[in-house]
Amino acid sequence: MLDDNCIFCKIVKGEIPSEKIYEDDDFLVMLDIAPASKGHAVILPKCHGADIFELPDEYLEKILKVARKCAAGMKKVLNCDGINILQNNGEAAGQTVFHYHMHIIPRFKGDNVNVGWVPGDSADNAEIGKKIREAIEG
Ligand code: 5GP
Ligand code: ZN
Repeated sequence: MLDDNCIFCKIVKGEIPSEKIYEDDDFLVMLDIAPASKGHAVILPKCHGADIFELPDEYLEKILKVARKCAAGMKKVLNCDGINILQNNGEAAGQTVFHYHMHIIPRFKGDNVNVGWVPGDSADNAEIGKKIREAIEG
């Protein structure tokens, strides 16, 4: 199901043009309009779901294989030193388009891409770990 008011659904439908690098029945992969690095691509499921919690399982089950296929092609062409594959859920996590998508970001030694965090303190891991385990196990 697609959403008439969603920019990525419009791209999937071809109503907005994109620099497409791969397409199959379930996904369209395009180059990012504001790339973090040369070749930065975004995988769009052909189904509207705002984030990982809304996207149907069948897409989640298939998307990493698409990511690897595209990343392999990108690696050959771009000769990059590494590749980040990541996706954001929620504004606080940096999500700006609320149609689930996965970034494939080629990395070059010494580039200016910033994907990271400052290592923190694990003192409360046992406490939070117990709570999360209970939540997952229900
Ligand atoms: P987010 O921040 O939600 O994880 O990523 C959204 C990404 O989509 C951004 O990197 C942004 O540059 C890209 N983007 C937003 N609108 C368009 C568009 O119309 N076309 C393309 N190709 N990329 C877009
Ligand atoms: Zn959408």
